[in-house]
Amino acid sequence: MKWKEQLLGLHAYQPGRTIDEVKREFNLEKIVKLASNENPFGSSPHVTEELKKVDGSFALYPDGYATNLRHALAEFLQVSPSELVLGNGSDDLILMISRALLAPGRNTVMASHTFGQYKHNAIVDGAEVREVPLTEKGEHNLPAMLEVMDENTSVVWVCSPNNPTGTYNSESSLVEFLKQVPEDVLVVLDEAYYEYVVAEDYYDALELVKQFHNLIVLRTFSKIYGLAAFRVGYGVASESLIQTLEPIREPFNVNTLGQIATQAAISDQDFVKSCSIKNREGLTQLYSFCEEHGLTYFPSQTNFILIDFKVDGNEVFQYLMKHGYIVRSGVPLGFPTSVRITIGSKEENEGLLNVLTTFL
Ligand code: PMP
Repeated sequence: MKWKEQLLGLHAYQPGRTIDEVKREFNLEKIVKLASNENPFGSSPHVTEELKKVDGSFALYPDGYATNLRHALAEFLQVSPSELVLGNGSDDLILMISRALLAPGRNTVMASHTFGQYKHNAIVDGAEVREVPLTEKGEHNLPAMLEVMDENTSVVWVCSPNNPTGTYNSESSLVEFLKQVPEDVLVVLDEAYYEYVVAEDYYDALELVKQFHNLIVLRTFSKIYGLAAFRVGYGVASESLIQTLEPIREPFNVNTLGQIATQAAISDQDFVKSCSIKNREGLTQLYSFCEEHGLTYFPSQTNFILIDFKVDGNEVFQYLMKHGYIVRSGVPLGFPTSVRITIGSKEENEGLLNVLTTFL
């Protein structure tokens, strides 16, 4: 095996225990999963309506160019269809970019800590990973990221809002950064949680794509659109950048039902807005709790919050699981005394906070 040493350090994806397993083990009637930043309000009724019309002819391959979805998305985003690349989730786009640009002898720059797939793919591709700690506020330290780049840097990853902190970089800091990144380095701006953002000094990433031809913006239908099961994500970039990625894309990477579901979801922006409003209300519930109990957290622009309990994050995770709430321990995310909690519905948040009160 070519990159044996690197691969030996990798872990295969480890599925969490299923809801049924947890129910059985702790003798629970009900489990609330607040671990993977999924939408507690499901998805738009437009999606269900369109899926009901599907006639069952599943013998044919999907449209490999996702033509209808691509056109609907292009119109919605006000970009050209040729400025879009579609993926089997944005995970697939991260993989495509890594496969295209990373190799032994090259390096890639990212924050520490951020979404794990950037590093995972870089290791698979044998590239050197250069990690730059987040600032105290949980933001990417963009000037420090510039400093570690050199002539062998191929890709720099900016996750904004960042997973697992929920923090973002302001427009001015990002523009300053983009101006200084050499043109032959690809900047990936992962905006998986974009639709949840309310910050006023947040940037318009699609405008930035027009100015910076080495920038690609990644978004997904897995979060606010509530369609994680269908695995659809997209990238927006200049036409020439998209043309370099398209040959790497698997021909039928977006499945037929996913194309139908996501196209229907785009047509219901009221659903998206209402989820964003309810998410803000949920975040406020959690903020108040933290303030009442003296817990520190990163103010979030997403549908999750990273709370520091000042004890082993695995302990908090185990306690919540025993009481029917699955969250994400901060330990594997690089925050050993924290827990990352997805914002649920009002009732789910109340239930979780009641259990947390008994823990504290
Ligand atoms: N980027 C970030 C920052 C994420 O948090 C996630 C999902 N957790 C993804 C990308 C991948 O999302 P998907 O493949 O479902 O589109």
